[in-house]
Amino acid sequence: MAATIQDLQQNRLLNLLPREDQRRIARDLVPVDLRRGDELLDVSIPVNDVHFVLEGSISVIMIMSDGSAFEGRAVGFEGALGLVAGAGGTRRPFRRGIVQFGGKALKISAIRLKQLVEESAGIRDMAMRNAEIVVFTMLQTAACNALHPLESRLGRWLLMARDRIRKSELRVTHEYLAEALGVHRPAVTLALKSLRKYGLASGRGYVRIDDAASLEEATCECYRTIKYQLDEMLAAG
Ligand SMILES: [Zn+2]
Repeated sequence: MAATIQDLQQNRLLNLLPREDQRRIARDLVPVDLRRGDELLDVSIPVNDVHFVLEGSISVIMIMSDGSAFEGRAVGFEGALGLVAGAGGTRRPFRRGIVQFGGKALKISAIRLKQLVEESAGIRDMAMRNAEIVVFTMLQTAACNALHPLESRLGRWLLMARDRIRKSELRVTHEYLAEALGVHRPAVTLALKSLRKYGLASGRGYVRIDDAASLEEATCECYRTIKYQLDEMLAAG
């Protein structure tokens, strides 16, 4: 079953495309469910498919040679998994893509997407815009990880996850947050505790943001900078 134009418009990148390009790409996009734990990119195989997320979130995990892992970025309805590699041809991704929050996506074969990028200036522009967003977000996140305290980085991660999945209660473990931020688990537990006064509640397997405005005030500038840039770069027209 092909995707409808209404499906496409739920993804902020696909929503940027002129209507003619939306119709062109819709024929090749297939709606799929994202289930928590699904592995959509693997270090050992080429990028076969590109996933445009409609709901939920996929984490892109970097694996070091000693087996330690770090979340390089996460993709929600503002983006796509595999698009940077997929639009340039099918290459090995050197990272894993794992569904962190279940939802829905539109899938297209990387080979077909590459043809569409060559045929259409609108689709090419969308792929370029995505590459700019990925680079900008990763640079800002790298600066944040290098310069800002753990509480701020945790606040940024949680607010970005909330925006991506549009829910205030996030099903995440302290172990996962430690991996996402590249720190040990006890440090995450302490940081979560110190953010309680900003309306953060947490328990086994969940974190809930009860007062996003207050948490935003307690967080460094990076959350606001990334959000502002995303809104600018994804503004249609
Ligand atoms: Zn920061």
